[in-house]
Amino acid sequence: MSLNLQDIRAAHKRIRHISVTTPLIPSMLSGQAGYELLLKLETTQPTRSFKIRGATNAIESLTDEQKSRGIVCCSTGNHGRAIAFAAKQMGITATVCLSELVPAAKVKAIEDLGANVRRVGQTQEDAILETNRIASGGVTEISAFDDAGVIAGQATIALELFERRFDLQNIIIPLSGGGLAGGIAFAAKQIQPRVHVVGVSMERGAGMYEAIRAGKPVEVEEYPSLADALGGGIGANNQITFKLCRKYLDDIILVSETDIYKAMRIAFQQDCIITEGAGAVCHAALLAGKLKLEGATAFVVSGANVDMEMFQKIINGETLRLGDVEIGT
Ligand SMILES: *Cc1c(COP(=O)(O)O)cnc(C)c1O
Repeated sequence: MSLNLQDIRAAHKRIRHISVTTPLIPSMLSGQAGYELLLKLETTQPTRSFKIRGATNAIESLTDEQKSRGIVCCSTGNHGRAIAFAAKQMGITATVCLSELVPAAKVKAIEDLGANVRRVGQTQEDAILETNRIASGGVTEISAFDDAGVIAGQATIALELFERRFDLQNIIIPLSGGGLAGGIAFAAKQIQPRVHVVGVSMERGAGMYEAIRAGKPVEVEEYPSLADALGGGIGANNQITFKLCRKYLDDIILVSETDIYKAMRIAFQQDCIITEGAGAVCHAALLAGKLKLEGATAFVVSGANVDMEMFQKIINGETLRLGDVEIGT
């Protein structure tokens, strides 16, 4: 795979008509953490997650012929919304395949953008099969993470971080398929080789963590999680992100559903931000005492697409049922 800093700089120019340079704000939790904590607010993107960066860059990189035939993707919600948003801006037909695990709020947002939505099966694997079927008919598939254009787009976050703070010592990043964490880690270490980069996943069904432990992509069971955007494996035929994460991530930390629940509350009460579960996993790692760091540290707050009814329950400290488990304060 050819990914270099120049591609990432080019991507940054290519996407700026749609994606925004997001704020980097001080967290109120610096005192508790014992180091300067900064929050990169991808929650302020037009689709309320960083996925707009990769989706826009990947679509911009297609040929006119490919654009005219349309695009297809499968998604846990945020990539689909980003693809639908960028495709609409550029006048391209998009189809988004989603499993029944994707929250209704995310499905509606994608439909509202005018994309064709296919809901299939109970797992991300089912949505992948449907995506492959549509792609075999000549429609271009854009992976949510295992695509050089998508990775270069997500990696633009590293450029923005170091432009603001060249002295950054640690970057903590939510991790699922690894387009975000792998891309940022790669770019960050080209700019500042000594920077420490950590991925954070939920305890149950952490695809990249399990793959790196096994030395190859493995199937993971999918469980309902507050961090629904982190669900699913990395793909048995993973081409790019497995190698990228294995090489460039210094560590991977796992957090429990209770940690995520508490983190969503604290992020709201202390930092005044609304995050979805996946966007709060870095806060969760901090609260669980799993981040022993020194020096200026950035958390990537990756998305805000949370069902508001559920979010209000969490803020009120009410007990939630997630599949077979109950969680609360
Ligand atoms: C997709 C997503 C992630 C994980 O990104 P990967 O590139 O799959 O590792 C994290 N947070 C949110 C909000 C997401 O939508």
